[in-house]
Amino acid sequence: MTGSVVIAGAGPGGLQHLTLGALEAIREAEVILYDALISDEIVAQFPEQAEKIFVGKRCGQHAWTQTMIISAMIAHALAGKKVLRLKGGDPAVFAHLAEELAALHKLAIPVRVVPGVTAVLAAVAELSRPLTARGGSRHVWITDGHSGDVEKYAQQMAAFPGTLVFYMAASRCQQIAQLLLAHGMPGEKPCALVENAGTPDCALCTTTVAAAADGALVRRTNGPGIFLVGEVLQQTISQMTEEEYALASQR
Ligand code: SAH
Repeated sequence: MTGSVVIAGAGPGGLQHLTLGALEAIREAEVILYDALISDEIVAQFPEQAEKIFVGKRCGQHAWTQTMIISAMIAHALAGKKVLRLKGGDPAVFAHLAEELAALHKLAIPVRVVPGVTAVLAAVAELSRPLTARGGSRHVWITDGHSGDVEKYAQQMAAFPGTLVFYMAASRCQQIAQLLLAHGMPGEKPCALVENAGTPDCALCTTTVAAAADGALVRRTNGPGIFLVGEVLQQTISQMTEEEYALASQR
């Protein structure tokens, strides 16, 4: 009998962001293939009897290739096991979900996806800021900061009327800010680097794009970091009009 696969997101690290759905998948799993971003707190939830396979890639050390991960997932499922593929954040965001689903579908292996809290949501919560806001921030552009797409789309990004979110960019904030400035983004636009969002080791650094271009955003940890650029980072309740305040306080 063929087993099954659950591809789940464990959130940004802290146990408080693990969903009940992901916890249930952890408890039911017989084999767990998990990434480097899965924290020890979450690993501590794995059932004792489950086979735990660390498939992490960290800082260029490619211990497991994506092909190897997919092969292992398939082999265990075909051996009849309940396999859990556990990823940091959400499995649909920069997490090879498309390749993994395609491989499983091809072999008709039953698969279910369980969402998780993606890093940017933990990051804006750490900043106590929204990701979208009325006015000029009705859009979110999520991209990765290291593939060359920033160079390709810098002009559109510089003029984007919303929030720019760069995953995998913690060590490239300065270069990205310089590119955005060079393509006409106003230097006073706020930006932030959030490292280890959603964990006790969170580090926040906020500044303007002009200052970031001069090197003001310094990495403080070795953990994962996310770079955000947008007006939402400085919007406060004081931007409500007098009438809006009056209405809000009547409720
Ligand atoms: N699937 C994950 C993203 C994996 S790509 C998600 O949905 O969050 C890895 C990148 O995610 C890192 O380079 C970093 O940009 C971001 N990231 C993951 N966890 C993070 C955290 N706790 N704090 C800040 N950024 C994080």
